[in-house]
Amino acid sequence: MTGGFLECYDTIIVGGGPVGLFGAYYAGLRDMTVRLVDRRHELGGQLTAIYPEKWVYDITGIPAIRGKDLYKNLFAQSVPYNIPSSLNEEVVLIRKNRNNILCVETRNGTVMHTKTVMLCLGMGAHIPRRLDIKNLREFEGKGVSYGVHSLETFKNKKVIVVGGGDSALDLALTIVNDCSDLYVLHRSDRFNSHEETTKKLYSSNAEIRTYSELFEIEGDENHVKSASIRNTKTGEVEKIQVDEIIIAIGLLFNLEVVQEWGIKMEGNSIVVDHNRQTSIPGVYAAGDIVTYPGKMKLIGPGTSEVMQAINHSKTYIQENFPYL
Ligand SMILES: Cc1cc2nc3c(=O)[nH]c(=O)nc-3n(C[C@H](O)[C@H](O)[C@H](O)COP(=O)(O)OP(=O)(O)OC[C@H]3O[C@@H](n4cnc5c(N)ncnc54)[C@H](O)[C@@H]3O)c2cc1C
Repeated sequence: MTGGFLECYDTIIVGGGPVGLFGAYYAGLRDMTVRLVDRRHELGGQLTAIYPEKWVYDITGIPAIRGKDLYKNLFAQSVPYNIPSSLNEEVVLIRKNRNNILCVETRNGTVMHTKTVMLCLGMGAHIPRRLDIKNLREFEGKGVSYGVHSLETFKNKKVIVVGGGDSALDLALTIVNDCSDLYVLHRSDRFNSHEETTKKLYSSNAEIRTYSELFEIEGDENHVKSASIRNTKTGEVEKIQVDEIIIAIGLLFNLEVVQEWGIKMEGNSIVVDHNRQTSIPGVYAAGDIVTYPGKMKLIGPGTSEVMQAINHSKTYIQENFPYL
């Protein structure tokens, strides 16, 4: 509520990752009233949750920047517009009332009103994909992790990174010069990463173990001590001393709530048209959550999608709410 009247925003952005943050800035630039809502305790999405220390090289006009600094820049960009945000608020329902106003409801019972919504949900809840190893969960936080939050954790340590995609290789390259030994385990010999990233890994000090998988983790009640690695071709098992294990084999989607909003989805993604509008007029989506032919799940395309969505929503508002 503001000034005794119920606030009805021009847009509510659900998800304060890089795409939602950039959307907030751009909505401010387009003179729209906007609120950011995120289920986490902090903004930044994957930048702050998964790879604050990692270098990002593919942002227009920025040769290299760490995840945490990119987040700071994105936040600073929106500061002139004083965008309010609601943190620790998970949006569980979006529905239209009889006057075509969208009601955005959170798990805590907060209801917000808006003319349009931007769904920048990323992958929904960030749940890292786990390996099927019996005592894995016991060692989570005791040597087993799913990202690089502080370089200090890996300084002069023996580390295993499990995974063969961009995320695993990026995380490996983030710590390779800090740890004493780094093993990268991948089940096949083909990395599913950008060519340059693969080349950098091969030119680094990391010991690359292809056709290898993490088989067992050993340690005491305090910390990981060693790991057994199995050769996926021969079945041979080798035990190595290790201090830290990073598992980067992808994220699991938890979009159960979204599936109930009546928005057209394809698998775990929201279908959008060329204006980035979903199957519900006035509800837009951008970033990792969306799908369309040729979609790339990267920050650059996501920020461009949210610009398109904001621009179109401005027209939608003028046409549908000329009196508000
Ligand atoms: C290890 C790793 C390295 C990467 N490196 C690069 C790189 O170098 N360059 C690049 O371009 N991309 C990179 N990416 C991909 C990039 O991080 C994503 O494309 C980007 O984060 C997508 O932004 P987003 O805002 O769409 O989603 P996210 O960053 O996932 O943010 C989504 C936000 O929505 C919130 N949310 C979800 N559901 C709800 C809900 N119901 N209610 C409220 N809030 C909700 C989440 O809490 C989250 O904060 C990398 C990804 C990983 C994992």
